[in-house]
Amino acid sequence: MSETMTAEIADHPGIRPVADEQDRASRKASSIEMQGLHKRFGRDTVALDGVDLDIRAGEFFTLLGPSGCGKTTLLRILAGLEEPDDGTLVVGGKNVTEVPPHQRSVNTVFQSYALFPHLSVRDNLAFGLKMRGLPAAERNAKVDEIAEFIKLGDLVERRVDQLSGGQRQRIALARALVCEPDVLLLDEPLSALDAGLRSQLQVELLRVQKRLGMTFVFVTHDQDEAMVMSDRIAVLNGGNIQQVGAPREVYERPLNAFVARFMGHDNLYPISARQGDRLTTSLGELTAEDAGAGDLLLIRPETLDLLPGEVAGDNHLTATVGERLYRGSHAEFRLEIGDTTLQATVNNRGRHLPEVGETVTVVVAPEDLVTLSE
Ligand code: ADP
Ligand code: MG
Repeated sequence: MSETMTAEIADHPGIRPVADEQDRASRKASSIEMQGLHKRFGRDTVALDGVDLDIRAGEFFTLLGPSGCGKTTLLRILAGLEEPDDGTLVVGGKNVTEVPPHQRSVNTVFQSYALFPHLSVRDNLAFGLKMRGLPAAERNAKVDEIAEFIKLGDLVERRVDQLSGGQRQRIALARALVCEPDVLLLDEPLSALDAGLRSQLQVELLRVQKRLGMTFVFVTHDQDEAMVMSDRIAVLNGGNIQQVGAPREVYERPLNAFVARFMGHDNLYPISARQGDRLTTSLGELTAEDAGAGDLLLIRPETLDLLPGEVAGDNHLTATVGERLYRGSHAEFRLEIGDTTLQATVNNRGRHLPEVGETVTVVVAPEDLVTLSE
């Protein structure tokens, strides 16, 4: 990978704190270092199989993977709710492997809001502060501040069971934030919400994190959500980390077939022979630039161009349109090349959109080809 690409990838495209919030942003954050974390349940279930992971202070870090891959177990170990069989955990430079949960500056937001439904928003928000013995006046001041911050100001006197799902999840978040932890853990906090509310809360959550500058460790099984939110992502499978990187890196340069498929890539082709940059695959011969040494070729659907008819040229493949899904902003094609299929996504810029059955030429850009290993 070129240096410019690495720099570009490292730079999160999302939301940054504004200038007058910078000092708030630098106030509270802890780095997290995990080394050799193992966790087994019973005799047969290996939930974590030796996790080594460094999370930077102030980072929005996401654990991404399918159900059962160990995300919640890892989060529970960070919170101190679960003890690892082996390995060490350092938070903010301090070894906390054996430190009980209430002595860690870590708070958790769960998928099920875990609020007290019959209590007011204010009493819910104040609960943790009360447990810590904070006097009523200070409690109230802090609750008002956080409610204002997270735009719940006019709801504080309402009972939780009178609120919508989205409002409840914001309160769960506010309740975790009000104690000002150094690290906030979020276990699929948006999974239960419908799509519209979910994307709205994604943006809100990201803004809050950038404004507070806190370290967030966020769990999701949804790769789109992970890409939108994260500074960096760790992809897990079977208790093992498969890849750690910025969203673009994980999406555009997956290290193995598991990561590629999990990020939604279907265009994977075994490479049967190779001569320099020239690769032989079931699609035909293709020239790749800087593709890496793996034995599987990944072709991202959005990097392909379609020309009408048969056009000769290097990296030009003749295909038949098997299926076309028109989606307004773009169209998705299933193309047939001999016995092999290829997915292509084409932006709708008022150009010709080929019909099913039509012959087209697929133009493959050599610089967009990457290889990986099973
Ligand atoms: P995820 O959150 O990624 O869905 P989990 O961390 O909850 O995954 O679970 C990882 C594995 O450990 C799964 O196989 C799960 O069934 C198992 N597991 C988790 N918690 C327990 C438990 N308390 N007792 C037994 N098995 C568990
Ligand atoms: Mg889970």
